Amino acid sequence: MEKAIEIKRRAQRCIQNGDLDGALNEYEKLVQAEDSDPYNFVLLADLQFKRGDADQAVQRYLAAVGSYEKAGLYKNAIAVCKKMMRLSLAPAKVLERLAALHALDGLGTEAALYYMQYAETLVRDGKPAEAAGALQKAFDASPDEVKALERMSEAWMLADDTAQAARAMGAAAYAYERLGRLDQVERCRKRAEQLHAGTMGGMVAERGALRGIVVETKGGRQILPGTVVVDTTGDADVAARAGAPFELGRAEDGRLQPVSRIFHMGNVHLDRVYAYLRQHPEEFTVPEGWTPPEGRSYGADYLEETPGTSVLLQRVVQQAQQEGRANLPKNVISIYTPPYRSGPAEVALNATRIHGIDPTDPDELTRAELECERQVMDVFRFLKTTIPGFEESRLLGTPYQVGVRESRRIIGEYMLTVDDVLRGADFPDAVARGAYPLDIHDVAGLTRYAIRKGMI
Ligand SMILES: Cc1cc2nc3c(=O)[nH]c(=O)nc-3n(C[C@H](O)[C@H](O)[C@H](O)COP(=O)(O)OP(=O)(O)OC[C@H]3O[C@@H](n4cnc5c(N)ncnc54)[C@H](O)[C@@H]3O)c2cc1C
Repeated sequence: MEKAIEIKRRAQRCIQNGDLDGALNEYEKLVQAEDSDPYNFVLLADLQFKRGDADQAVQRYLAAVGSYEKAGLYKNAIAVCKKMMRLSLAPAKVLERLAALHALDGLGTEAALYYMQYAETLVRDGKPAEAAGALQKAFDASPDEVKALERMSEAWMLADDTAQAARAMGAAAYAYERLGRLDQVERCRKRAEQLHAGTMGGMVAERGALRGIVVETKGGRQILPGTVVVDTTGDADVAARAGAPFELGRAEDGRLQPVSRIFHMGNVHLDRVYAYLRQHPEEFTVPEGWTPPEGRSYGADYLEETPGTSVLLQRVVQQAQQEGRANLPKNVISIYTPPYRSGPAEVALNATRIHGIDPTDPDELTRAELECERQVMDVFRFLKTTIPGFEESRLLGTPYQVGVRESRRIIGEYMLTVDDVLRGADFPDAVARGAYPLDIHDVAGLTRYAIRKGMI
């Protein structure tokens, strides 16, 4: 290609002679070159603008902006944008570019201001959802610019998305709290609560971090803002909806431990139960891994003298199952006795079990509730008709929902291991302590489950 310098000279001559078209032709040749100086686009755009071709000029100015940006010459790109602003060329588009370029140049405050101006043009153009996106960028560029979040909430309201509006206002409350501007915190929180926020269990997020949740209450939908959100749903519902990685089920086939309902029976005559066990010691079993206090053995006497100790009926249950006399889900019924003795007792029963339930699936949970209901009644009838002491018993109550042993496991920075439990590992950031053997119920429906010693 002809040397750029010669082309430029010719273009200059054309301009001096008033031959605008000739000059344009020359500059068109210049910008065709791969390594063309971005400034050539500017010169070409200037000529096009002079000739009254605004659309062409915009294209060429933006090409110059793009080239400067690509070369990391953000200030040059900004200068071209500002020129476009002075010429009133495509102000909305240019504001967006100016914002992005300032952000790239590390000028967060300026970037935020341009994003906010850009958002206003989008609102005026009837694009409030896009405006909300720009306002988020404004806040990201300059986290002190909390007004951007408040304006974002208004933009979402204009877009008829009250859930997003509430989230933005909740995020504003948190941001003000972080900045120590407590006078603004309450105002934003109240406003967030007034907005009828979207779906139950929704999230309030700020810059990738969870800053609260949306809950459904008797008083309607509300936001619960928080500096830190601790997921105590047991199913990691909050973490999962926030996109945190998790595991569900065992690695090889995704199967989960069974769900159960522990229920209560009353008017149980434990003295008669113990008398029966004394006569039939073969009917109950000793909990695996259990060690009696020194000098004692796990018999009917010990059970009777130690209120609160559970009775594990086994053989009598197995026999009833084999003979088809009862439709019992487990081959053992655990009877939890009360920690005191005084007349007819109230006991808790751990005797139901349903396999193959995914506790994160509402349909499966419903199936579990119905099946558990049947199992509770079968166990109740069996005890009442078979075990002395239960003849006059009554079903006192069942839980409001099935109990889940295993659900989602958050893949956190650290995950508890079997070894941690077995050796009773200590953690410097522990928030609670528990003491119980490792208790894994068989996922395949076998009757036994593993208990090993250990506590944490
Ligand atoms: C029959 C049975 C016997 C068990 N026996 C033992 C045992 O002997 N020893 C042992 O260590 N462990 C045992 N487990 C396991 C133990 O109960 C659980 O591991 C433990 O309760 C889990 O505690 P958590 O606080 O994580 O969750 P949970 O106790 O399940 O508490 C979660 C709470 O969050 C609420 N919640 C959930 N989702 C939402 C939502 N979206 N919005 C609002 N609220 C929500 C729930 O209603 C619940 O109140 C047993 C479990 C069962 C079912």
